[in-house]
Amino acid sequence: MTDTPKPAPLFDKLALIGIGLIGSSIALRARRDGLARQVVAATRSRKTADTANRIGVVDHCGTDLAEAVKDADLVIVCTPVGACGEAMKTIAPAMKKGAIVSEVGSVKQAVVRDMRPHVPEGVHFVPAHPIAGTEHSGPEAGFPTLFDGRWCILTPLEGVDQSAVDRLAAFWRACGSMVEFMAPDWHDMVLGIVSHLPHLIAYTIVGTADDMAGERRSEVIKFAAGGFRDFTRIAASDPTMWRDVFLNNREAVLEILGRFQEDLFYLQRAIRWGEGDKLFELFTRTRDIRRALIDMKQA
Ligand code: NAP
Repeated sequence: MTDTPKPAPLFDKLALIGIGLIGSSIALRARRDGLARQVVAATRSRKTADTANRIGVVDHCGTDLAEAVKDADLVIVCTPVGACGEAMKTIAPAMKKGAIVSEVGSVKQAVVRDMRPHVPEGVHFVPAHPIAGTEHSGPEAGFPTLFDGRWCILTPLEGVDQSAVDRLAAFWRACGSMVEFMAPDWHDMVLGIVSHLPHLIAYTIVGTADDMAGERRSEVIKFAAGGFRDFTRIAASDPTMWRDVFLNNREAVLEILGRFQEDLFYLQRAIRWGEGDKLFELFTRTRDIRRALIDMKQA
């Protein structure tokens, strides 16, 4: 039996700036399926670069960001959102004309605001956000199937070269993602509801339980059943990444939080006045949403 030949690489050299969960998962997938002839990375600390080299997620990982992007035809910035602008500024002078520069930030408007001014003439900037992740971080957390069956949202800006957008979309599809296109402001509002608010709630609930538990903390942990345990998993997400998400999606998150508080008061009132029908109506509606997610294989 012969192995099925791999399709021709989509890119010659892929450079990843930041090699944490997302960067290493992209690298592992690209190398597994031959999506680029060469996959390199650069990161801020020597320690992370050494780990990336030791476990072999990339052909080479260093700490010189500009060096890594030389001759790359696809560069993906995979740092926390707050560091994207500075990373772009550093790599800009070393970027090849005609190359694509993308990123994976969980927020789009702020990243576009911070990166776009530094993108050199002749380089195609196409922001993207893979909706896939875990609560783990660092190069050892990555795995090649992270993006399988998950959405990747591209937010191309006006006037961008369409063939660059098509090539990046093809790359994400080859990573296993389903690709969708959105405007950056709409992306931030949608993700504010489906991702940022749930994380904020998880951080709050776990913090509140911890404050209340005091000396009886071990009992809270011992009896943590499904609901609370699920929140603790989300609340274990990377503090740097999530600090940056909230600071950089401030307007959308504050708007959604306002609505959320109104809805919470509605439930609080229904509980106080024994209005079981209101609770039942909402819980039935939300159960349907879960079922729809299962049908769409996104559960
Ligand atoms: P991570 O595992 O914490 O890795 C972050 C990487 O960025 C590390 O290599 C880190 O380097 C590097 N870095 C941090 N600050 C830097 C700076 N100032 N200059 C250069 N490199 C820097 O993070 P991640 O989970 O992969 O997240 C990366 C991006 O993906 C974030 O923008 C996040 O919003 C987005 N995202 C995350 C998820 C998720 O679930 N985790 C999902 C979708 C999108 P050192 O270790 O060397 O300091």
